[in-house]
Amino acid sequence: LAHQTLALQTLGLSKSFGGFRANSDISLCVARGARHALIGPNGAGKTTFINLLTGVVPATSGTVRLLDEDVTRVSQQGRVKRGMARTYQINQLFADLTPIETVGLAIAEREGAGARWWSRVGQNSAVVDEAEALLTRMKLGEVMMWRTATLPYGKQRLLEIALAMACKPKLLLLDEPAAGVPEDERHDVLDSVEALPQDVTVLLIEHDMELVFSFADRISVLVQGQLFAEGGVEEISTDPRVKAVYLGE
Ligand code: ADP
Repeated sequence: LAHQTLALQTLGLSKSFGGFRANSDISLCVARGARHALIGPNGAGKTTFINLLTGVVPATSGTVRLLDEDVTRVSQQGRVKRGMARTYQINQLFADLTPIETVGLAIAEREGAGARWWSRVGQNSAVVDEAEALLTRMKLGEVMMWRTATLPYGKQRLLEIALAMACKPKLLLLDEPAAGVPEDERHDVLDSVEALPQDVTVLLIEHDMELVFSFADRISVLVQGQLFAEGGVEEISTDPRVKAVYLGE
């Protein structure tokens, strides 16, 4: 693959905690525009990998390339500026703000204007228009004036994605978007994830294989910190070795 066609590439990426190799020599390519999923049983090293990609923890060795640029030593904020955004598995949203305020602030921040500017522009600006459009696309239009703390959990997870999308990412890292979401709200979350714009490359980190099979066009399987298998949905969903790994959990 030519570099220009890759949104993300890791080369021999490794992370050790003490003597324990949580990620071991991971070389992964994510094509531009792909819907790529990284799956693996609990403890496989998925969270560690996403933390290395985003720069939350430094790699022990190896390289991270974002859109053909080596970002291994670039800060978290620098990676966001270069087009990488992530959602968080843990709810870190501002409970007392509304979705429109939350996303509006993120857009203002992206434009380099910051919170003070947002409070001045009030209700009549391009920022509000953009925030409304984004929230509507994420099925949050009807609740955009609610206090976030009062939203159903599935809507809170969608707001996390909307917040990441407010950065206008080229690569979006989704960390278990449906984790903990009650059954009756799961479809909302899945629909919105599937409706994300095609020009945004998505790497979905997920434990739930069903979600992955309906979403992804390419799947990498992580087991005990190493890449174990990679292929299309058909290939991975019928691979007896992958099934065995999950059954053995
Ligand atoms: P997953 O997200 O696939 O469940 P993790 O990346 O959270 O996997 O964890 C992989 C392994 O690395 C686990 O055995 C975990 O205990 C270990 N690990 C993760 N972070 C740390 C850390 N900061 N210190 C020590 N061990 C860690």
